[in-house]
Amino acid sequence: RAGRNRFQFVDQRQHDLHHRELQIEHSLHHVLNTAAGEGLSLHYQPQVCSSSGEILAMEALLRWQHPTLGPVFPDEFIAVAEQSGQSVRLDRWVLEQVCAQVANWLQDYPQLPMVSVNLSAQQFSQPDFADWLQACVDNAGIAPTRLKLEVTETTMMEHTDTCVAMLERLRQMGFRISLDDFGTGYSALACLHQYPLDELKIDRSFMVEASVNERAFMLLKTIVSLAQQLSLSLVVEGVEQQEQLDLLADFGPLMVQGYYFYRPLPVADIMALLDERQPGI
Ligand code: C2E
Ligand code: MG
Ligand code: MG
Ligand code: MG
Repeated sequence: RAGRNRFQFVDQRQHDLHHRELQIEHSLHHVLNTAAGEGLSLHYQPQVCSSSGEILAMEALLRWQHPTLGPVFPDEFIAVAEQSGQSVRLDRWVLEQVCAQVANWLQDYPQLPMVSVNLSAQQFSQPDFADWLQACVDNAGIAPTRLKLEVTETTMMEHTDTCVAMLERLRQMGFRISLDDFGTGYSALACLHQYPLDELKIDRSFMVEASVNERAFMLLKTIVSLAQQLSLSLVVEGVEQQEQLDLLADFGPLMVQGYYFYRPLPVADIMALLDERQPGI
């Protein structure tokens, strides 16, 4: 009715979503290429011992304060970064920041817990990644043993051969390898013994289900014992309530990460925690 030779969005919502995605894509490009990461920052979420509450490690998690959209969360912008081929750069920005932060913290806190960093799938199609990462830790003057690298189950399953080879190399260099979101991808169960892994992170959905469903609880219990039998360390994600922690008590001390203990925190708050743990010098 509006005439020929024109293209019109039928669905306004679809149009708005697409517009937002493009905006995020362009802003990311700008932030990574010209603005030196302005607006991006890292929060750190402690991973603690379920019985003593001691902080054993911390996961670095990206935060983005967008100039016009306000706070944008990683579940949204990581997906856009991956689709628009920017996740390699984004990960490397994060790794540089984390290495510098760890070097800085180590001056005051020699007992600093390990820091965990998320890697996106595209990193595994970059043949230079291991060399780049070695240069990155060398530049910062920290040992690879300070870092855990988190790879999702889906990444592992989709890029098995290149992934295994690269992870083996990274592990030999001294990095710890952690399998993130375990239990949500295609089942990696059968291949678990073939992967060069140090740690399993059980996805949050298991903790959520286990507190309301007996069979889900048995499944969680089985995964815990599986990790123990494979000598993998284990992190249970998404512990939000005392009742959930009580459920885990049966399994002995575990590493847990969740809002019950700490939310992801800005650097200043982490410093306060590190001060409590080991007063700075
Ligand atoms: P993830 O690696 O599985 O990280 C854990 C997510 O669960 C984080 O969400 C964290 O804030 C959230 N979480 C932790 N404890 C609880 C809890 O008790 N309850 C609930 N409801 N949530 C909890 P966040 O920070 O929004 O990150 C989402 C995902 O985005 C991450 O999932 C990770 O896949 C990705 N991501 C975040 N930062 C980075 C990054 O620097 N690089 C890459 N490649 N991906 C990142
Ligand atoms: Mg993670
Ligand atoms: Mg996870
Ligand atoms: Mg996740």
